[in-house]
Amino acid sequence: MPNKTEVHNNGQLKIGGVPALNLAEKYGTPLIAYDVSAIKQQIASFKKGLANYPAGGRIIYASKAFSALAMYRLAAKEDIGCDVVSGGELYAALAGGMDPEMIEFHGNNKLPEELEYAVKQKIGCIVVDNFHEIELLDKILAAHHTTAKVALRVAPGIEAETHKYIATGQSNSKFGFDLDSGQAQQALKALLDSPHFDVIGLHCHIGSQIFNAEGFEMAAVKMVKLMKRWSEEFGFSARILNLGGGFGIHYTESDQPLKPEIIVASLSQTVQTEIQKAGLELPELWVEPGRSLVGEAGTTLYTVGSTKKVPGLCNFVAVDGGMGDNIRPALYGAAYTALLAKDTNAPRNELATIVGKYCESGDVLVQAQMLPKFHADDILALLSTGAYGYSMASNYNRNGRPAVVFCEKAKDQLVIKRESYADMLRNEL
Ligand SMILES: *Cc1c(COP(=O)(O)O)cnc(C)c1O
Repeated sequence: MPNKTEVHNNGQLKIGGVPALNLAEKYGTPLIAYDVSAIKQQIASFKKGLANYPAGGRIIYASKAFSALAMYRLAAKEDIGCDVVSGGELYAALAGGMDPEMIEFHGNNKLPEELEYAVKQKIGCIVVDNFHEIELLDKILAAHHTTAKVALRVAPGIEAETHKYIATGQSNSKFGFDLDSGQAQQALKALLDSPHFDVIGLHCHIGSQIFNAEGFEMAAVKMVKLMKRWSEEFGFSARILNLGGGFGIHYTESDQPLKPEIIVASLSQTVQTEIQKAGLELPELWVEPGRSLVGEAGTTLYTVGSTKKVPGLCNFVAVDGGMGDNIRPALYGAAYTALLAKDTNAPRNELATIVGKYCESGDVLVQAQMLPKFHADDILALLSTGAYGYSMASNYNRNGRPAVVFCEKAKDQLVIKRESYADMLRNEL
């Protein structure tokens, strides 16, 4: 069972000190419940990892993992930054009280109006991804007689050991400038040649759900080599080095993540060593954790409904949510751990598949595995659903998106209301 899960002495699941059964009763299901202190602990662990890095750094919450006002407020209060990948996320981050200076803008096809919005808000960094964007942004900045702080996103040609849908560092990725073909260098030159860009540094992000420090360190070594080369060729000095996010979390027993402080400390050591060898000035070190800040902190509570058993063929347990609140298993075969909320120690002696209520055979939450015996009206808890669950939720089949509650020190607070039937019609004429 994931280490962050709290259990009463009677075996009942608690989230942030609040019994899961009480939450289900009070707010209904499906419900996504966050343990706020687990989020704070992860933030503290990243901070600790950077604590001994002499040039300092920034922890930037990759907010696509869970973009919610309550989460932006929490990030602002904890003094970390955030990244956004759309005008909508930027709007929400600002509404949640994020300091524009601490916001970073990512994306492989930022729209003209989104770039204009970011420029007007004077955000801390726009991570430039492609030539089209450089041209667009240059025009917008010229029209506003202003400059913007930008970083150059490089695809470092490193393949993270992860699912191909979430690997982003390889040379044929849709994200960032390719190194080997010379495009990254051409892009830097274009940025340096324009009076509108303050090029603060370099960025790479090799993928997601990565467990060993190796991939990150290979990327760090490569990026410092690049800094050295571009310092010689262009006199360019990077003030920040952003090594992206992708720190793995515990979904099932087979996932054994290292603590962020361990990975980040070893990463910062690698950067220091390499920078020293290169004879460069130490840049600020930025990291962009998304999943690892909110993933394990979130638990989805469902109510069990129908079951279908065909001896020797299948054994389905259906819940009142599914791919509309968690598309990850359907999208890329993501695995989760399911518990019986009233008895987390219940013996797992039933081979079953947990499915949702959506009209797709692919609407599976947990592929066939040994599970506790579930009955109608039981509360089923799916662990580590805090990242890329709610933020990827849809209204497929006109099911409303679930409610979200923050729990801390045995108190619960509703932070997102359940979507009603009327909510789902609000834009229809
Ligand atoms: C998605 C993303 C992240 C965060 O990835 P996680 O796996 O959630 O940590 C960080 N940086 C960039 C550029 C991303 O696209």
